[in-house]
Amino acid sequence: MTLRLFNTLGRRVEPFEPVTPGRVSFYTCGPTVYNYAHIGNFRTFLFEDLLRRWLEASGFEVFHVMNLTDVDDKTIKGATARGEPLRTYVRAFIDAFHEDRRWLRIKDASVYPRATEFIAPMISLVEGLLAKGVAYRGEDGSVYFAIDRFPAYGRLSQLDRRELKAGASDRVSADEYAKEDARDFVLWKAARPDDEAVGAAWDAPFGRGRPGWHLECSAMALDLVGQRFGVDVLDIHAGGVDLIFPHHEDEIAQSCAFTGREHFARYWLHGEFLQIRGGKMSKRFGNVTTARDLREDGVDPGAVRLLVFQTHYRQSLDFTDEGLAAAREGARRLGEFKERLARDGNGAGGPEADAVAARLRAEVTEALDDDLNGPRAVAALFDFVREANRLLDAGRGGKALQVAWNWADGILDVAGGSGRVSAEVADGAEFGEEPPAGQEVAWAVWWSARRVEAKKARDFPLADRIRDRLKAHGFEIRDSKAGSEVVRVAG
Ligand SMILES: [Zn+2]
Repeated sequence: MTLRLFNTLGRRVEPFEPVTPGRVSFYTCGPTVYNYAHIGNFRTFLFEDLLRRWLEASGFEVFHVMNLTDVDDKTIKGATARGEPLRTYVRAFIDAFHEDRRWLRIKDASVYPRATEFIAPMISLVEGLLAKGVAYRGEDGSVYFAIDRFPAYGRLSQLDRRELKAGASDRVSADEYAKEDARDFVLWKAARPDDEAVGAAWDAPFGRGRPGWHLECSAMALDLVGQRFGVDVLDIHAGGVDLIFPHHEDEIAQSCAFTGREHFARYWLHGEFLQIRGGKMSKRFGNVTTARDLREDGVDPGAVRLLVFQTHYRQSLDFTDEGLAAAREGARRLGEFKERLARDGNGAGGPEADAVAARLRAEVTEALDDDLNGPRAVAALFDFVREANRLLDAGRGGKALQVAWNWADGILDVAGGSGRVSAEVADGAEFGEEPPAGQEVAWAVWWSARRVEAKKARDFPLADRIRDRLKAHGFEIRDSKAGSEVVRVAG
């Protein structure tokens, strides 16, 4: 059995075969850094993280590129409104993106190219397209791609050809446009005063201006994958379904017209939408929930991963209070099991433990090879926990359980910290600055009580020092009207 993936190009599940056996070039459209990425963006990034981890666990060497869109209509608008240079404006959102991504345990890509650092390859790409006669300079000074010069246009999004002909007489200069607007799209936008004011304009042989959004991904992908593997066709290109048209359609047109290849990427994968539904969640956040909203709400990142992977990436996911509560409970149970296994899992084992371990590997492999079936992989993990707990209860746990768990945990990574710390500390206990081995929880509870005393005595520097010390050992203090509680946040 080998990995099979649903290819949007052709709309069918196909066996995955990279251009070069053993290695995979993987390009994922990253965030536009004009704002905090919302949980819907992170659903896509989590699906890509699962794919990346599964490719690596399957033995592939993965070269993963995720771009950061730091120049486009939205970033320029944001910088203009704030009266800041583009570079200054996007910095905080780039930092925030990485912070949120790490919190959600999304693995580092091999490289995070910023569009503004790849202007030269973008200019070369436009020059190449002009030379081939598939691009032209409009009377507004911008350069456009002529879609009627590229017969394969519409192949990915399966646009109606009639619709295309109707639209092809016109053109569009906005970075984002609707499906009805299948028409010549902008490659290079002539500089406007707003662009100049925020430092978003560059000299080019075909006129001063700045790249269109679609051009950026083609240029960065071709440049980086060329440098790394010496090829001009990607193995996998992924993103959210909202990118199929126009973004990915336009990327294909530019790239294939430039390279002369049949494909820009051989496999196109798209993650479905996430919708925020019902209850407190939507009331509180409207339709925009960011990863930092969840973190501030004390949600464990393992629970967010679990919630996302419990729905197949090609199905739309309703993000509800109930769903999140169930995922929090699930992640907490997995976290407890993880701790138990680390503590008690070193027994001699035996054929039963070996069989349970082998079943986990087989089931997770089968699930993820089947178009990255997260829900089935997660179900296999819970089955394993139930069986393994039974063996541990009977004193028949063993190293095989530990090894199998670590393998699956390294792919799904959905276990939570042990959550709320409720252990009582015996009267008269005294602790030092470092937690004694095996008594971390009692230590944290004791110190958080000392912090409450310090605050009452208005000794805020001491209270802050205690908070930092707890944090350094993976505990977080959460103050609310009801009082203060200490929560274990590290795995
Ligand atoms: Zn892109």
